[in-house]
Amino acid sequence: MPLSVEGPRILLRRLRQVMLEQLERQARLDRIVELIATSMNTAVCSVYLKKDKDTLELCATEGLKREAVHQTTLRVGEGLVGDIAQHARPLNLADAQTHPRFAYRPETGEENFHSFVGVPVLRGGTLAGVLVVQNTTYRTFVDEEVEALQTVAMVLAEMLAETGELEAQEGRGGPRRYEGQGLTEGMAMGHVVLHEPRVEVSRLIAEDSEAERQRLDNAVYALRRTVDEMLLKEDVSHAGEHLDVLETYRMFANDDGWLSRMRDAVRTGLTAEAAVERVQGDMHARLTGQRDVYLRERLHDFEDLTNRLLRILTGRPVYASSDKLPKDAILVARGMGPAELLDYERKHLRGLILEEGSQSAHVSIVARALGIPMVGRVLGIVDMAQDGQEVIVDSDIGACFLDPSPEMVESYVERARTMARRQKRYARVRKLPAVTRDGRQMEVMMNAGLRVDMKNLSDSGADGIGLFRTELQFMVSAKLPRIEEQSAFYSHVLDNAGGKPVTFRTLDIGGDKVLPYMRHAHEENPAMGWRAIRIALDRPGLLRYQLRALLKASAGHDLNVMFPMVAEVAEFQKARRMLDRELERLEKFNLPKPAQVRVGTMLEVPSLIWQLDSLLPMLDFVSIGTNDLFQFFFASDRGNPLLSGRYDILSMAPMEMLKQVADACHRHKVDATICGEIAGRPLEAMAMLCLGFNRLSIPSSSVGPVKRMIRSVHLGKLRQAYGELVQSEQALSRSSLMALAGRLKIKL
Ligand code: PEP
Ligand code: MG
Repeated sequence: MPLSVEGPRILLRRLRQVMLEQLERQARLDRIVELIATSMNTAVCSVYLKKDKDTLELCATEGLKREAVHQTTLRVGEGLVGDIAQHARPLNLADAQTHPRFAYRPETGEENFHSFVGVPVLRGGTLAGVLVVQNTTYRTFVDEEVEALQTVAMVLAEMLAETGELEAQEGRGGPRRYEGQGLTEGMAMGHVVLHEPRVEVSRLIAEDSEAERQRLDNAVYALRRTVDEMLLKEDVSHAGEHLDVLETYRMFANDDGWLSRMRDAVRTGLTAEAAVERVQGDMHARLTGQRDVYLRERLHDFEDLTNRLLRILTGRPVYASSDKLPKDAILVARGMGPAELLDYERKHLRGLILEEGSQSAHVSIVARALGIPMVGRVLGIVDMAQDGQEVIVDSDIGACFLDPSPEMVESYVERARTMARRQKRYARVRKLPAVTRDGRQMEVMMNAGLRVDMKNLSDSGADGIGLFRTELQFMVSAKLPRIEEQSAFYSHVLDNAGGKPVTFRTLDIGGDKVLPYMRHAHEENPAMGWRAIRIALDRPGLLRYQLRALLKASAGHDLNVMFPMVAEVAEFQKARRMLDRELERLEKFNLPKPAQVRVGTMLEVPSLIWQLDSLLPMLDFVSIGTNDLFQFFFASDRGNPLLSGRYDILSMAPMEMLKQVADACHRHKVDATICGEIAGRPLEAMAMLCLGFNRLSIPSSSVGPVKRMIRSVHLGKLRQAYGELVQSEQALSRSSLMALAGRLKIKL
């Protein structure tokens, strides 16, 4: 029999009473499932809780066999319960046993039950378990019942968290290790600062639902007003693509579907703030796995709106990220843009932990530039960490530790000492020239893109900037930088380069580099989509202004400029023509010119390798972007942690490909630089020397280690030994190159 509208509210009050009773953990869980089954008029109610990252355990049941409690487990993705956990969405079935995902567990005796509703138990958008009701009849439950069960599940999650039940599941209480992916280098110890502290909703169950609905409506109207006001502000109200984005934001705020979902949740007995949180939790759980950058960004907007709404409802002020940082802050956040990171005062920032993130995401590039140890993809950390908690972040092993034990702290301190010793060794070679033992001069340059990088140029001992990613300025701006801002920035870079060469790459946007103010259509494969030179040629205004800004800033300096993601000679020619037109414009108006203009291209798309003979004569230099080149060569997404380390660049096929490029560049006497991240590792850098490359552009922190390697190499002997290795029976591999380095006493 369907639950009446009053049903869930009465049930919630009863549940609250159970929580107040002095009961043992298991007894309380048993009582809860019994109450739910009675109120919902179902034969079965069971709670499965997450035992670890992949496993759910039956922790209490009314109606299934008791012997199965703490015995029956399912992996996430296995059976109906695992399916609900995997997709974080309810399942409502008239006959569970005919569902293809049904996984029979004889110890539970569930063969007697047909109808089935299961909902995820979510806390702060993170899955804590699954709540299931079952009946002997064949019928689908009505929407109100599913809705009611979701509300109960949310209250249940909060209650279990309050009484430490979830913590027991998660092993909280002692030191805890969380796995993720190291996205920069180094390690740090400090105290947690939650980037956007979760607004704690303490009042979940409504006394008066009508009053809560009214509160919700008022808060939503207040929110809409503030968004409207934001759009009228002077600094954003002028036309431009950023306005479209803000309009989208306003559209979300005005979305009646969102309001009605929250009203429905209030109707089931939640307070206004609990209803807001529940709808956010559902959305978060469903969209976090999204690979689509655009949708993920929209989720960010949505979460931002939800947070604002919660602040209106709870009367909390808007969070100001920059102040009150402890001296050893380790930031913890779901996701973060580069601009948000830069909002924080660097001198207090020790580390960064994100639930999202990837090697090449721009927040990682910024963190690397700032030398901040960072671990990404740490699932659930935002809900587990608390402000002020002690934490170690270790990007070298890709993990972080909350409440570390004294032994962990001891080992951290020991490693920090070793690292400091190593840094000292590198510091000694940093300022020395990158010359091999047989007197061959190599060029070790660094990659850059931000103002802060300019300080690294002198500190690191790099010979120049081999890749200046101009898109970073666009990405950290709230709106499209005007031509004057662009040229002021480039002037700053050149003025602070101290005469060392700088190679600017024109805008490389698209893929994972999303400009918040530029509308971007949904793409199935953004990395292979409308990006970089493709956007530049289709929207010539952007590139024209950028080239104009670069030329203006380079008056009296040398300008080195290159284009990203070129796949065909014709694309380079079109871009080059635009540059020529801008040079003619300088001539025509008698404007100051750069001392010299050198034009090149990035080699990131394999197709270009078969066009080198026609392309190279048109170029002054080529820069090989191995990050993208290998993602396309191996068809292996560079940002996907499941694939990282799967294919090795130090194997025959990719090395052969690079050799072809090196040989072609020598034939045509065109300078070639390797500018992907790989050349920052000494062994890989050594392999590039073997192939004939003698210019590298790498992260500034790698300049010391790579110079040390170069200074220990006898280039003639190295190239000869490499030649013999590829001729021999032995396969070319990481280990054979390591062995070669060992034989030649090369310092890696
Ligand atoms: C590359 O693809 O190797 C490269 C250097 O460019 P980015 O990492 O900015 O895509
Ligand atoms: Mg690239």
